[in-house]
Amino acid sequence: MLKINNLYKHFGSLVAVNNLSMSVNKGETVVIMGPSGCGKSTAIRAINRLIEPDGGSIFLDGTDVTLLSEEELRGVRKRIGFVFQQFNLIGRLTAVENVMLGLVMDGLKREEAYEKSLAALQKVGLDQVVDHRPSQLSGGQQQRVGIARALAYEPDLMLWDEPTASLDPMLVREVLVVMEELARVRETTMLVVTHEIAFALHVADRIVLMDKGSIVESGAPHRVFVNPVSDVGRRYKELIE
Ligand code: ADP
Ligand code: MG
Repeated sequence: MLKINNLYKHFGSLVAVNNLSMSVNKGETVVIMGPSGCGKSTAIRAINRLIEPDGGSIFLDGTDVTLLSEEELRGVRKRIGFVFQQFNLIGRLTAVENVMLGLVMDGLKREEAYEKSLAALQKVGLDQVVDHRPSQLSGGQQQRVGIARALAYEPDLMLWDEPTASLDPMLVREVLVVMEELARVRETTMLVVTHEIAFALHVADRIVLMDKGSIVESGAPHRVFVNPVSDVGRRYKELIE
């Protein structure tokens, strides 16, 4: 589904991502972990070219997205759901209107956009609050609206960049539960940047550990966390013990 070859990105003299190669198969959940500043966001944002890579290739279903025009990229971006740390909901719109907005802008009829949005909100357990505005929702519910907004496009691939990082600890679980269901029950193809070790351990098919712009190790969660071969892996192991 996704194959990244020798991805490279620098900001001035700082090399943010250095020769990163990895892949995600259809239906798989791959979790990227690593210390803050190691290049996780840069790498994941390069996939739909929110960040322009300086080198390497990124194949999505066989198409190299690094070679696409802006026009072609718009089509590819609809197939990739992206959930960020910030929810970026529009305050004056209701939950369902927030989910509908992109679909309507893309030319979908209002009724069709509404139906798709309701279905997406149902998947994240928010069918009771579709007419609430963000200010009437908890942070966890707001992030679930953010997830529904991505799901409404029925994406082939979901990218997550620290989706629980700005939530109160009490609200993290409800978002992780939704993510776990998407991964396990719905077999969504997901690439997740997170610091949630328990989620990584129990839900990921594979863990990729990064340090200073590069992958330092990858493998099955239990192998990586029980028998790490990198310093970063050994630090995670200590956290679990
Ligand atoms: P992570 O998500 O793992 O915390 P990032 O990918 O955000 O790391 O950042 C990797 C490195 O690139 C960091 O040193 C960060 O300061 C730097 N960086 C990220 N974005 C920019 C930018 N737009 N301009 C300059 N430096 C950046
Ligand atoms: Mg980041």
